Amino acid sequence: MARDETAAAHFDAVVVGAGLAGLYTLHRLRRLGLRVRVYEAAAGVGGTWYWNRYPGARCDIESMEYSYSFSPELEQEWVWTEKYPSQPELLRYIEHVADRFDLRRDIRLGTRVAAARFDEAASRWMIRTEPGEGAAQVAGDGLGTDSEEDAGQTVSAQFLVMATGCLSAVKGPEVEGLERFEGDCHHTGRWPHEGVDFTGRRVAVIGTGSSGIQSIPIIAEQAAHLTVLQRTPNFSMPARNVPLDPETQRTRKAEYPEHRRLARESVFGIPVDFPVKSALDVRPEERERRYQESWEKGNLVDILISYTDILFDRRANDTAAEFIRGKIREIVADPDVASALSPTDHPVGTKRPCLDSGYYATYNRDDVTLVDLRRSPIVEITPKGIRTTEGEHEFDDIVLATGFDAMTGALLSIDIRGKSGRSLREKWAEGPRTYLGIGTAGFPNLFIVTGPGSPSVLSNMVVSIEQHVEWIADCVAFLRRRGFASIDATVEAEDAWVEHVKEVGDLTLYPTADSWFMGANVPGKPRVILPYCGGVGVYRQKCDEVAAKDYEGFTLSS
Ligand code: FAD
Ligand code: NAP
Repeated sequence: MARDETAAAHFDAVVVGAGLAGLYTLHRLRRLGLRVRVYEAAAGVGGTWYWNRYPGARCDIESMEYSYSFSPELEQEWVWTEKYPSQPELLRYIEHVADRFDLRRDIRLGTRVAAARFDEAASRWMIRTEPGEGAAQVAGDGLGTDSEEDAGQTVSAQFLVMATGCLSAVKGPEVEGLERFEGDCHHTGRWPHEGVDFTGRRVAVIGTGSSGIQSIPIIAEQAAHLTVLQRTPNFSMPARNVPLDPETQRTRKAEYPEHRRLARESVFGIPVDFPVKSALDVRPEERERRYQESWEKGNLVDILISYTDILFDRRANDTAAEFIRGKIREIVADPDVASALSPTDHPVGTKRPCLDSGYYATYNRDDVTLVDLRRSPIVEITPKGIRTTEGEHEFDDIVLATGFDAMTGALLSIDIRGKSGRSLREKWAEGPRTYLGIGTAGFPNLFIVTGPGSPSVLSNMVVSIEQHVEWIADCVAFLRRRGFASIDATVEAEDAWVEHVKEVGDLTLYPTADSWFMGANVPGKPRVILPYCGGVGVYRQKCDEVAAKDYEGFTLSS
């Protein structure tokens, strides 16, 4: 780093990532008059909606909720076409935002941040970049990269904002032999832009999380034969996606101010009516009716908030879980396949719930086979396909729907060093430690958007992103107004927050599942609850109280 530092460009703030979080951070910090630079590893803006182009990729929060609220003009102007927006539509929306707010001129695409070191004497971050996706092709194309040198240099900034995404570091299947496979292999989170034609091909999908569940029905329609390799079955409910008619859209737009306020104060970042009864206090027929309503609604969280204790009491949860298992038995013709598809090892909602379009019915097709990896685990990937303990299956294509090193993966892939050169990897070796999910002690002026210890992935993420970005921008404005050069979480405040996140998590059923919420999907990752389970509204209040008390729990230095 030392050689490059002499020629460093200086910014007030560097933002890492140009997804929904990075773009809004740029917009807010610019409005404060800051000189901001955004680095994005991808060759385009959009983050999640740039990378995840697999068949069927779409949002499972309604478009009119999963959208920025910061600009009344934007929310009134933009016309959504479907209840649940597809990946192309979301990417178009995000690109429109980048243009509408003239964001691109401060974004350097195809540029990965490889390292960041806090220079204590200067109270500034030294940030080293390297070429990212398609750097050479992006350079000089007018899309925001000045020159190829931009992709490999060191710059300095007073503030460093990590908008690197909770679900941006993809994870593979951790089996031997992938590199020997002679067919084509694609991860859902790194899907080719030109698409993949599966016509006439024998395709394997590994993974049955949301990405697998969305893509499997569509791949099945194309492929000559589809084999799904499932380790853990998931609970899924029908999305019931529909086109958004102009009248509904007009009405909803008229109600936006109140609707957005309710979302900000809600538990999941979506305004919903709160339950008053325990699932165990009502008669089975009443419960059945209520769960059937959820099944028909096509809503991600409705069944979880049908009763007060679905996410807190295993017996209550079992009633909802059994309802969904009953639906699987109704839909899937072969009882053995239905049984293999029925989750029994985790309570419903403790792994990220899924919404689907024809997922379970796909297994009634003659050209679709389910391989239960619990019975016959993968031994290796061979040149011709996949060998399980029961034998070799031959494929032309393998689709890895194997997920992400969530919440910490993208942050820890950067060599971040704070005070006294201490690395973030070392500090978080036993699990992430943050104050409010925004700061981490010993790393002054480093802000994390929707970091571990914040509600983030347990919410409509756009609501959480806006809340974090606004809090961070207000904090930066405060520091400048009061003449402080830096802000750093205290170890005491951080310890108390980490404890609080654990305590609240332990009140729920989340820790009982081997989920990515718990870090359990990545071998060797510490098992801790990553998101804060206290809810978006409560969390916002806590953050606001900290700010109102002149950033209580942080040390401010001149
Ligand atoms: P991202 O969109 O992940 O953007 C982060 C960006 O940072 C990426 O472009 C990445 O390339 C870049 N980056 C990372 N590290 C570096 C580095 N070192 N240097 C330079 N750039 C870097 N959330 C919901 O609320 N509802 C949904 O329905 C929903 N659906 C989803 C569907 C899929 C397939 C996935 C994967 C996630 C989904 N999410 C959903 C979560 C989604 O990630 C968030 O809603 C949101 O898009 C996150 O925005 P972000 O800007 O924080 O992160
Ligand atoms: P995921 O939920 O982590 O699912 C990964 C799947 O791959 C799981 O079934 C997992 O099994 C399996 N798997 C992982 N490693 C494996 C291995 N070594 N061998 C065999 N199987 C393996 O990942 P995802 O589906 O990409 O979704 C991640 C998150 O992104 C979601 O939870 C959601 O937040 C978001 N998302 C949302 C949508 C949407 O509908 N809006 C769509 C896609 C993604 P185990 O369960 O046994 O680990």
